[in-house]
Amino acid sequence: MKDLTVIDATSAVMPDPFTGRHLIDGIWTGSDETFQRHSPAHGTLVSTSARGGKPEADAAIAAARRAFDDTDWPALSGKARAMLLLKVADLIDARREEIAVMEVLESGKPISQARAEIEGAADLWRYAASLARTAHGDSHNTLGPDILGVVLREPIGVVSIITPWNFPFLIVSQKLPFALAAGCTAVVKPSELTPSTTVLLGEILIEAGLPAGVVNIVLGFGDPVGARMAVHEAVDMVSFTGSTQVGRRIAAAASGTLKKLSFELGGKNPQVVFGDADLDAAADAIAFGTYFNAGECCNSGSRVIVHQDVAEALSDRIVALSRKVAFGDPMHPDTQVGAIISVDHQAKIAGYVRDARAAGARIALGGEALDIPGLPGCFYGPTVLAGVTPDMTIARDEVFGPALAILTFRTFDEAVALANGVDYGLSAGVWSSDMHTCLQFARKVRAGTVWTNTWMDGFPEMPFGGVKQSGQGRELGRYGLEEFTELKTLTMKVTPGRAPWVRG
Ligand code: NAD
Repeated sequence: MKDLTVIDATSAVMPDPFTGRHLIDGIWTGSDETFQRHSPAHGTLVSTSARGGKPEADAAIAAARRAFDDTDWPALSGKARAMLLLKVADLIDARREEIAVMEVLESGKPISQARAEIEGAADLWRYAASLARTAHGDSHNTLGPDILGVVLREPIGVVSIITPWNFPFLIVSQKLPFALAAGCTAVVKPSELTPSTTVLLGEILIEAGLPAGVVNIVLGFGDPVGARMAVHEAVDMVSFTGSTQVGRRIAAAASGTLKKLSFELGGKNPQVVFGDADLDAAADAIAFGTYFNAGECCNSGSRVIVHQDVAEALSDRIVALSRKVAFGDPMHPDTQVGAIISVDHQAKIAGYVRDARAAGARIALGGEALDIPGLPGCFYGPTVLAGVTPDMTIARDEVFGPALAILTFRTFDEAVALANGVDYGLSAGVWSSDMHTCLQFARKVRAGTVWTNTWMDGFPEMPFGGVKQSGQGRELGRYGLEEFTELKTLTMKVTPGRAPWVRG
């Protein structure tokens, strides 16, 4: 592809391959079998990990159960819990570079982005520490002279935390510190493609003084490890981030024991651009939403729905900006978009683009793999598809790659119908210089998050999650801790005696 911005292989020094083990009841343990991860950009061996199965999952769940039922962890004061979480945050900061490099080599994301994510993760641990001290229940002093009602907020118990490969350290940090702040214990299973930064987090937790068994880590594949964590009767809740398809499988498996489920799943997020929008700002945000993390992002703004009068002007701007986005070696500090996670996934992206073209979409840019000089890995070029219609697969499915679908609308109602006309409902954006248009759209769109005249700004204070098939439950904000709690109603008779029920 011509006229793109490409960053060739760097001569960055790679660390020695990492050996990952399970953390079960405070002890690092191996398995007879192992699995390897090679850098999707460089092809080099990055890590060899113990390959857990049902025995390791069961041992980890039993350890978490004991730590919850038989130790004073759930009853620890908010202050003590907060101090521990703050220590973890400081240790994450101290090891930021090591964690960031590992994240780059296993996931293919650019180093500058990885550094920012690890910094953001430390901030999440700090934010959760603040919640540990401020979370509380409720009281009812209006139930009559004899009764005082108290609503206690208690930790839900043992939580299975199952995470994906696209933001390995950030996503575990959206869950685990909140679960710990609430007083839960956990078993964590990272993706088999990106296991090692979760192991580094385990080292940090031990160094920070977390008691044995409170957090356990099992490495391995979705089936059997994740599947066991979903079905086990000693688990009280599953907190899962990943594909909608696997989310459905977990819901079915967990139904036997009716445990609580929290799901952060896929998205097909629309950015709706009205005729009076600032097209330069919108185009830049659309480029960001399309190419950030190579489009391998639940929040990818992979669908633009633009008023037909400005469609061409917007599309031209997006294409021009796309050519300037730096694709290449993720170890180079200037790279903005790195490698695709795997050969299989690259083929899946290419398939979506091929099908869209066959269905009548026009390739305004790209539509093919990208060669990065000196690197053997998988790269896919910036891709813009115009003339997409709502019936096309690329307008409905989560592509999870650097490919944008552009659709057009004529009226406000049509824009809303198009935005809501897919199975997903994670996030949505609206661009207009009229705040009334933005607010009306924000109220009508079915999505967990709506951005007006911006895209993908996130804050620990603001809850995040999806509607429809994008998930259930919320992370972050005070709700992020509340997810990991259960309410207990305490109804107290505060005056002597009780009016008898039995007559005579
Ligand atoms: P995935 O569903 O394939 O895997 C996610 C995790 O589930 C992995 O750890 C995997 O080993 C495990 N798993 C697989 N099969 C399982 C089973 N039967 N039982 C239990 N666990 C099982 O997802 P992925 O490919 O790693 O990640 C990409 C997906 O994640 C995308 O769909 C993306 O939208 C979604 N995602 C959502 C959010 C969000 O916050 N909504 C954030 C990031 C990623």
